[in-house]
Amino acid sequence: MTAAPAASPKVLIVEDEEPLLFTLAHNLKREGYAVVTASRGDDGLKLAREQKPDLILLDVMLPGIDGIQVCRMLRRDSDVPIIMLTALGGEGDRVAGLDTGADDYIPKPFGMRELMARVRALLRRSGGRAQPDAGTPPLISGDLQVDRERHEVVRNGSVLRMKPKEFELLLFFLQHPGRVFSREQILDEVWGYDFSGGPRTVDVHVRWLRQKVEDDPASPARLRTIRGSGYLFEG
Ligand code: CA
Repeated sequence: MTAAPAASPKVLIVEDEEPLLFTLAHNLKREGYAVVTASRGDDGLKLAREQKPDLILLDVMLPGIDGIQVCRMLRRDSDVPIIMLTALGGEGDRVAGLDTGADDYIPKPFGMRELMARVRALLRRSGGRAQPDAGTPPLISGDLQVDRERHEVVRNGSVLRMKPKEFELLLFFLQHPGRVFSREQILDEVWGYDFSGGPRTVDVHVRWLRQKVEDDPASPARLRTIRGSGYLFEG
C-alpha cells in the first residue's frame, strides 16, 4: 500500500498472482496513480469499502471469494468502475455473459499499455473521481425509502430498526422486484462467503422483514412465498 498525493486517482488491485500484482502496482504508480492492493477476494472487498478507490482491477479466480462474487457484492451499493482480469479458458466469456456489473474486462495475458489505456478511458468516463458519499439516491418502493449509504430504511416516516443481514436482504429484494429466487440463490447472493447456516436462515430473515414491511405479516402482499420455489418481492 502506498500513499500518493491526494489528487491522484486511487486504484485497488485484487490479484493473487504476485508477479502480476507487482507489475500492475509498479506500472500504475509510475503513471501517477495511488495504489492499494489485496491478494484475496475477501480482503479486496473490505479494502474497496474502506478505501473507496476510484477504480478496481479485479482478478476472477481468487482465494477467499472469487472476483465475480466480489463484483456482485460491491455493485449492491457502489458504482465504482471495475475492470475484471480474466484468465484463458472461458473466464472472459463467463464474465461477459454474466450479470456481474463489471464495466470492462481484459483477458490475460495483456499488455500494460493496453491496460493503462483502459484504466484511463474508464476513469475518464466516470469523471475520474470516486463516487461522492452523498451521491447515491435513495431507493424507493411504495412506502419504503432505503438510504443505501446510511443503511437506513424509512417507512411511513419512521425509521425501521434492522439487523445488517435484514437490510441486505431487503436491498436485494428491492433491486430485483418481480423475480422468484430460491432460498439457495438468496443465500448465495446475500450471505455469500461468510455464511454458516442453512436455508432456514432465509426463512427466518424473511419473517423478520415481513413484520417490518408488511401491513399484515401473516398474509404478505409484498414479500411473497412462491410454493416450491422460494420468494418473490412485488415491486
Ligand atoms: Ca488468480
